[in-house]
Amino acid sequence: MGLLSEGSPLSWEETKKLANHVREHGITQFINLYHRLKDRTGDILKWGDEVEYIIVKFDDENRVARVSLKAPELLNYLNEKELADPKGVKSLWRPEYGAYMIEGTPGRPFGGLMAHFNLVEANMRYRREEVTEILDKDECVMSITNFPRLGAPEFTHPIYYPNPDDPNSSAKSLYFPDEAIFPAHPRFKTLTRNIRKRRGEKVAIKLKVFKDINTKLPVEGAPKGEPDVVALDAMGFGMGCCCLQLTFQACNINEARKLYDQLAPLCPIMLALTAASPIYRGYLTESDCRWNVISSSVDCRTEEERGLRPLSENKFRIAKSRYDSIDSYLSPEGAAYNDVPLTYDEQDYKRLRDGGIDPLLAQHVAHLFIRDTVSLFSEKIDQNDEEDTDHFENIQSTNWQTMRFKPPPPNSSIGWRVEFRPCEAQISDFENAAIVCFVVLLTRVILSYQLNFLIPISKVDENMQTAQKRDACRKEKFWFRKTSKKSCYINGNGVNGVHNGTKENGETNHEEYELLTVGEIFNGKADTFPGLVPLIRSYLQSMEVDPDTHCTIEQYLRFIEKRASGELITTATWMREQVLNHPDYKQDSVVSDRINYDLLKRIKDIQEGKVIEPTLLGKGNHSKTKDSLPPALQKQLALNGCCENK
Ligand code: ADP
Ligand code: MG
Ligand code: MG
Ligand code: MG
Ligand code: MG
Repeated sequence: MGLLSEGSPLSWEETKKLANHVREHGITQFINLYHRLKDRTGDILKWGDEVEYIIVKFDDENRVARVSLKAPELLNYLNEKELADPKGVKSLWRPEYGAYMIEGTPGRPFGGLMAHFNLVEANMRYRREEVTEILDKDECVMSITNFPRLGAPEFTHPIYYPNPDDPNSSAKSLYFPDEAIFPAHPRFKTLTRNIRKRRGEKVAIKLKVFKDINTKLPVEGAPKGEPDVVALDAMGFGMGCCCLQLTFQACNINEARKLYDQLAPLCPIMLALTAASPIYRGYLTESDCRWNVISSSVDCRTEEERGLRPLSENKFRIAKSRYDSIDSYLSPEGAAYNDVPLTYDEQDYKRLRDGGIDPLLAQHVAHLFIRDTVSLFSEKIDQNDEEDTDHFENIQSTNWQTMRFKPPPPNSSIGWRVEFRPCEAQISDFENAAIVCFVVLLTRVILSYQLNFLIPISKVDENMQTAQKRDACRKEKFWFRKTSKKSCYINGNGVNGVHNGTKENGETNHEEYELLTVGEIFNGKADTFPGLVPLIRSYLQSMEVDPDTHCTIEQYLRFIEKRASGELITTATWMREQVLNHPDYKQDSVVSDRINYDLLKRIKDIQEGKVIEPTLLGKGNHSKTKDSLPPALQKQLALNGCCENK
């Protein structure tokens, strides 16, 4: 979302009436943009991260930490800075769902140089400092995935109380007051209200409580008959979580389709590795990740669509929330692995096909469009389908999936891009930068070695659920593509040993995937898979890398290697340990105000580098990260007409 593009949101009743209008024009807009842009080629690698942050306020006297509802104030300042010098700012700031959240990205995307890997962490550090400068002394900007006591009594500053019976309330939550929703842009409250209204009731998020020896059942607020459930009832519990995302530009649409597919099976794996959110509404739960929470938090499907009642008003049963993992691959190699039946309207599909879109892309778009618009602004109803893409973007941007296939925006120099969306936000810039650099390097390796990670979509779905289990990173196994024993993944000339595995008739071979631990996936398993990290190292050997960049990347790889092997623990596991070992913890699953305060203080010290947590980060996490490229390189770039990321 761009800088506050203001407008007047329509009521739900008006929005609902225009659902087919948005669908019809959105599809036309996609067909038109496709023909304008399908042959666009020669775009260079550019990439950038998005980190979401929570503003925490510490009451040191009473030892309570709360979320500070000051995002609008911070964004006013940060966005003014951007408006004054749009090309020069080193960071861009955008609103997020929570009034206590902000999203930061680098001022400009990074590019294809190895040296760019040196800038990521410095830029993340700059962002944190930039925000810290305008906070009060008792506040802190934190890249935590979930605020552990979100939705517990008095979790906001200033304190507001939920008002579920207020007819004007958007969320009607028993726990999450509307004041905690970002107020300055109507999009967020409108989405909240419309998702609830479309569904026909409040959203229902359920998490199993982590049962300790003194855990009291039923948990406060548990649904009838489900005493061990921590129940959450508002969009804010999910969309109020933070994550780490990455976007890459591909050289053309085919490369984008390929990257989309190859990265999709890695989403659950990266989710398990980055797991960072075991605590909800003040309770330790059995889940380590936000994914299912956020998925249910925007689940606008009606009872009919969810299969609880026979279809009468609605067109389809729909298997998943609009926030979930992808349902189909887009590249020709992926086609054979699309084993989950795709729901879409035949008419929409036919229109896309008649419009010249190939079957894989047509079914992808038709499937996106099974969703109704849940946020429409009066200014945007009537559009020029030859040029505008707002109706397409309306549906595209509210299909929140593990991967997003992003067409070039109208009238821009930006190419076809792919967004990688599963990762949870980590405490330190070092960790976040390591993950970002790792995934970007992985895309390079996939393309140069022509790697193939495809497994059936149903297996990716299964992995998504496995990834969220407590301590999945150390304890669970994941479906992963098998390589043949004789494969020559790493033989210097980049020969791909992972056979496509698709028989001529399109049937897939049963033997082509196996269950691996996260450690095996990253670090390799004798005779079956060389491991993602060794693959990256092999790739790097063939590249010219300056010593500082090499050192930085090596530190990131060593860190990833150790997290994957279990030598270092995930953020989620570390948080659990902090709670379980807290002197005030009563073995009752409850993360009290005091425990929450101490946990967040500890996190603050870690992110500021004041304490080192060897179990979480190891010892050596001082990378040679830089603010800008060395002058000699900059000069060369200027000569080549490349932009430099300041
Ligand atoms: P969204 O919220 O829709 O995912 P944002 O604009 O917040 O998108 O973030 C987009 C990310 O893409 C940022 O990290 C940005 O640096 C990066 N980016 C910008 N331009 C390009 C480009 N041409 N190619 C790849 N990434 C880009
Ligand atoms: Mg963004
Ligand atoms: Mg967003
Ligand atoms: Mg965001
Ligand atoms: Mg994004």
